[in-house]
Amino acid sequence: MRKIEHDKTKDKEYDLACIKCDGETCHKVLFSVNVLESEDEISVSRDYEIIICQGCKEVSFRTTSSCSEDMSYDPETGETDYDEDIKLYPSRIAGRKQVKDMYLLPDEVLKIYKETHGALCGRLSILAGIGIRALVESVCREKEAQGGNLKNKIDDLVTKGVLTKDSAETLHSTRLLGNNSAHETIAATDDELDIAMDIVENLIKTVYVIPQKAKKLNKK
Ligand SMILES: [Zn+2]
Repeated sequence: MRKIEHDKTKDKEYDLACIKCDGETCHKVLFSVNVLESEDEISVSRDYEIIICQGCKEVSFRTTSSCSEDMSYDPETGETDYDEDIKLYPSRIAGRKQVKDMYLLPDEVLKIYKETHGALCGRLSILAGIGIRALVESVCREKEAQGGNLKNKIDDLVTKGVLTKDSAETLHSTRLLGNNSAHETIAATDDELDIAMDIVENLIKTVYVIPQKAKKLNKK
C-alpha cells in the first residue's frame, strides 16, 4: 500500500546547515510530499521537503526516510525511535561555504575547487582528498613552484611567500600530499580533510582573489 500526503510537514522547523549562512540556522518547510509505503507490517516513510533558511531566505531541499524495521533504543530516555536518513540538496556542511568571489580564480583552479568542495560537502572523502591534492598541484603549476615532488614544491611556495611555513607544515602532516597519495588519501580523516581544505582555500584566496580585488581598489 502506498499513501501520499501533501504538506503534512509544512511549516515544520529544523536547525540545519545553510548554504550561505555561517553554521546552522532555522529552516522552515514551505511544501512537502510525504509518502508512506507498507507491506506485511513493514512500513517505509519518506518526506520530501522544500525548505527555506529563515536567515538568508535561500531555498533548498531536504529528504528523510525511515523504516519500521530500523529503530534505535536510547538508554538515557528509555525510548525507541526510528533511525532517520536525512539528506540535503545541495549538500552542505555547516561552516563550509564556498570561497567568496571565486569567479576570480583561474579556470582550471575554479573547476577543481568546485568539484572538491562538492565532494567534501557530500562527504565523498576519497574524492575530496584527491581534489585537495589536485588543487595544490594546480596552484604549484600555475605559480611555477620548483621541486622534484609535491612536498618540495609546497616548500617552494613558502619560499615564494604565497604560503606560510605553518600552513605548509600542517599540509604535510595531513597525509593528503605524500608520494603514496592514493593509498594515504583513503586513510585521511574528516578532520584532516577539513583542515587541509581550510589551508587550500586560504592559499587560493591569497594567490588569486585578494591581489585582483586589491588591483581593482587601486584603480578607483
Ligand atoms: Zn541561510
